[in-house]
This record gives sequence, C-alpha cells and structure tokens, in this order.
Amino acid sequence: MRRCQRLIILLNVFAFLMGPMPARAEYTYQFPVPDCKVSYSKYHHDYPATDIQAKLGCPFVAPIGGIVQDVNLKDRWSGKTNLGKDRGGLSVSIIGDDGVRYYGSHLSKVEPGIEPGIRVEAGAKLGEVGSTGSARGTKPHLHFGISYPTSPGDWEIRRGVIWPWKYLDAWRAGKSLSPVKQIENAKKKAAK
Ligand SMILES: [Zn+2]
Repeated sequence: MRRCQRLIILLNVFAFLMGPMPARAEYTYQFPVPDCKVSYSKYHHDYPATDIQAKLGCPFVAPIGGIVQDVNLKDRWSGKTNLGKDRGGLSVSIIGDDGVRYYGSHLSKVEPGIEPGIRVEAGAKLGEVGSTGSARGTKPHLHFGISYPTSPGDWEIRRGVIWPWKYLDAWRAGKSLSPVKQIENAKKKAAK
C-alpha cells in the first residue's frame, strides 16, 4: 500500500472515531441598536435590564439569530392600572439560537412580518425605538432585557434577569460575548 493511501485510511478511521462535527459552541452577537448614537446607563430600577437611549425610529435588531416568541403590537398601558404585561408597550422578544431570551420594548413600531414563530437572523430589524408603554412621556429608548425562556407573556421574567451591559459593551466592540452561562446560573438560582 502506498503511503498516501495508508494516510487516507488512517484519517477516515480517525474521522469515524471522532463522530460528527460538534455543533458550533460560539454564536455571533450584534449590538441591538446599530447605526445610531446611543447611551445606556449601568443602572436600572428594581430589576436587571438596561434602557438604551436612542433617537425615535432608530432600528432595534435581533442581537442573535433565533425564533420570535412574543410580539405586542398594541400600546395598552395606562398609568391608572400600570399592569406588568402592558408596561413594555410595543415589544418583541426572541429565543436566540443560544437558548437565551432577548426582549426589546417601548418600541414606536414593530417591523411588518415580525410574528411569533418566524425565524430571524442576527441583525434582522425587529422594530423601531420609541416610548410606548410605561415610557410614555419620556425620551425614546429601548428597554433591553436578557432572560431565560419561559412561557410567552411572562413579563416578569422576560423584562430581564441579568445585568446586560457587559454583553452590550462587548457586542458594540464587535466581540461575541455570550450570556449563556450566566443565564443558566440565573435559571438554577430561580428554581431553588
Ligand atoms: Zn427599562
């Protein structure tokens, strides 16, 4: 047997033993309000999330590829009732390919065609920054929350369970830092 033939057989045996290629562990993330002047404070009232200040109409895009879970197309918020489910106003949440839920709210507009169950890629436009819901009367901003998935409509979880700016800072700098580990820990903690 020629040496190169032997090498090919050896490589095939090796590939067989290794099994199929493992799924890519790394995901590509994207800052959710690109192409706009933004600022976000490293603070949020009551629970972990952040408000990304940007001009009215700035695009809100999918921070990662995934499936749209929750969409709210109507601003039903009233200061009198201040119901948790209404506070976000117009909003979209997606379940990313990394298994994490990403939520953006107070939108002025949801992009046509963005409905529960559809697939979006990282950077796909989901809507536009606004001040609907409990942000009525305030400067336009995107409330951005990172959480673990629960059932649709679960506003207490979807609004955010971890501080997001570490990830926002990284994504803005073009680095794909993943919140998967931190979300897994938050979920375990909540289950206790
Ligand atoms: Zn907020």
